[in-house]
Amino acid sequence: MFSPTRTHIGSVAVRDIAKQFGTPTYVYDEATIVKKINDLKVFDVTRFAQKANSNIAILDLVRRNGVLVDAVSAGEIHRALTAGFKPHGATKDAPHPIVYTSDIFDREALELVLKHDLHVNCGSPDMIEQYGRRKPGGNITLRINPGFGHGHSQKTNTGGEQSKHGIWHEQLNEVLVLADRHGLTVTGLHLHIGSGTDLEHLSQVCGSMETLAKQVGRTLTTISAGGGLPTIYKAGDTYVDVAKYYDLWNASRQRLEKEFGHKLTLELEPGRYLVAESGFLVAEIRAIKQMGKNTFYLLDAGFNNLARPILYGSHHPMSIVPGPLDSNEPQHGTRPMVDAVVGGPLCESGDIFTQGEGGFVITRNLPQAQVGELLVLECAGAYGFAMGSNYNSKPLAAEVLVRGDKALQIRARQSLEDLTRGETIPTA
Ligand SMILES: *Cc1c(COP(=O)(O)O)cnc(C)c1O
Repeated sequence: MFSPTRTHIGSVAVRDIAKQFGTPTYVYDEATIVKKINDLKVFDVTRFAQKANSNIAILDLVRRNGVLVDAVSAGEIHRALTAGFKPHGATKDAPHPIVYTSDIFDREALELVLKHDLHVNCGSPDMIEQYGRRKPGGNITLRINPGFGHGHSQKTNTGGEQSKHGIWHEQLNEVLVLADRHGLTVTGLHLHIGSGTDLEHLSQVCGSMETLAKQVGRTLTTISAGGGLPTIYKAGDTYVDVAKYYDLWNASRQRLEKEFGHKLTLELEPGRYLVAESGFLVAEIRAIKQMGKNTFYLLDAGFNNLARPILYGSHHPMSIVPGPLDSNEPQHGTRPMVDAVVGGPLCESGDIFTQGEGGFVITRNLPQAQVGELLVLECAGAYGFAMGSNYNSKPLAAEVLVRGDKALQIRARQSLEDLTRGETIPTA
């Protein structure tokens, strides 16, 4: 399914995008995101974990396709509102368009939540206390750590004793008493045990949900299965069977509905599943050099643009766009393949896109390339731009949305002036 060469993203030529917007540039294919949204339509509510990709054009796109949103910070609340999400649903019983989920309230987030009267998903007893003191009598959701977790990396495992996330399952009764003391009603229960989980681990969560939900009781109106739906990063990776996954959750939901005697809304909270495959980081090869037996392709994009390989040893498919940017000579014939190390421009030896977990440099079998050709890092739409930084004083990349036959800029590349904005040399 992944090809070592690529000429187009959607129906737009990659070279045209690079010529128009420069490199490095993130490109998202709108049709892929819409398809992913439709895959999950069987769930009552799909709530996008926007931390995966929070560009307001992406938020607007998912919103127009019926998706609600999760916010984990004041900044993400601001983005959701800017993209057109309303603080409240059309009716009292409609699902909350925006839910604030975190393990803490920083002061700014708490003020913003109160100002817009947003629903909160509390991941610590302190959150309940701080919220309850300011808004007694409200409704809350509890995020519970069920005592086990799973993730594609130790860093993305969000359950178990080593995780900082959620309220420890054995403390549920205690926090129900705490909520009561503030007149808070627990209307939602939320479990998110990690990213890149498989069906077996995901189904384990259903069992926990039932046990915990019965402990909370009839005030519940919503249960959330969290995110963590795996997506495909290399040949051999598999999706979960969404229909089977839904069946497991729906069975739990129905048992709980029977117990409570009323309907429950079933939410799913995917991040990467909706956006990972839609995204491409387009970079230019600026140097090719030989270090002993290793061939290095060095790009104008580094871990300042895409941090997942250096953070998690993540694999991203790569492809070469044939033909140097500043030549229009047609490219003929097939090319030999070479094993190359692919790295970026940063003054840091870890700035390598081909590395395994633990930072071991590995090679990738890629077409023989020339300086001036484009290399595309694929499946980069989730936790790509969103984790970008200005390290080495590199401006943040441009972002472009492919809609039909058009490539639309959704974020301008930062300028050099942007880099020093807000900094001052004191005169005193
Ligand atoms: C990160 C996160 C998600 C999304 O995880 P994915 O692996 O991207 O699906 C969902 N819910 C919560 C609470 C999260 O922190």
